[in-house]
Amino acid sequence: MMKFEVLILGCGAAAPNGRNLPSAQLINLRENYLLVDCGEGTQLQLRRYNVKFQRISHIFISHLHGDHYLGLMGLLSSMHLLGRRTPLVVYSPAGLEEIIRLQMKISESYFEFPLEFVVLPCDEERLIVSESAFEVRSFPLRHRLKCSGFLFTEKPLLPNISKDMIRELKLSIEEILQLKHGNTIVNREGMVIEPQQVLLPAHEIRSYAYCSDTMEWENIVPSIRNVSLLYHESTFLESESKRAVETWHSTASGAARIASKAAVKMLMLGHYSARYGNLNCFLDEAMQIFPNVVLAEEGKTIEL
Ligand SMILES: [Zn+2]
Repeated sequence: MMKFEVLILGCGAAAPNGRNLPSAQLINLRENYLLVDCGEGTQLQLRRYNVKFQRISHIFISHLHGDHYLGLMGLLSSMHLLGRRTPLVVYSPAGLEEIIRLQMKISESYFEFPLEFVVLPCDEERLIVSESAFEVRSFPLRHRLKCSGFLFTEKPLLPNISKDMIRELKLSIEEILQLKHGNTIVNREGMVIEPQQVLLPAHEIRSYAYCSDTMEWENIVPSIRNVSLLYHESTFLESESKRAVETWHSTASGAARIASKAAVKMLMLGHYSARYGNLNCFLDEAMQIFPNVVLAEEGKTIEL
């Protein structure tokens, strides 16, 4: 199985504590490196976990609260310093390009690599990236500032044909490719072979949804339905549900209710408020509503 995994670089809320760093995750999607949010300290975390950060091709910033993007200028500067030439695309709500370009202007600096900024709509779902191996959609979250969730979906690989079958039917490479692309062929012995006779079932398509900062909001359910893994913030426990609403955040129970409504396979919690000592209470609370839950923790890798 080709890699599709999520490395947690930071999973705390905005106020600093000694336990968690602000939001950032690195997705390895079939050797494409995608960075999601870039809180302060992200480049140090990338170094700590031995990520070759020049391989990052796309950066997705959910919104412009500092705990989700203040590490970006440092990371971009290091990429330049270390000789990057390959292009980089940064997706975010409006305003980020101005912030970065102003810092560059005042420090009279420049980047040697092509840097493109793409503004997210934040009020409707949209396909924002389509590559050969994967696609990315953005969809609106409900937060104090314009805020976007992201859905990462791999594209199907070509189906397989067993080695025994290839030998038995004496298939050439050209014939194998024809069959894999769904075409009927006639082999050297004049035998008509339909693709459905020889193709093994295609693998299951894996997907990952990232919901950074949001109130519990049912409108996101259609965008994240049946995903393999849902990351949904849980800044608070349900005992602080009033505070969650006031600050446009969710509780562990709220995240679990959304996971359940969307029938996702697994839920990951994160963006924990610094007020909580033991994070297992997040796990316990969510699991009363939805069975398959993991806690985000710095350095943890979740394989899909
Ligand atoms: Zn926020």
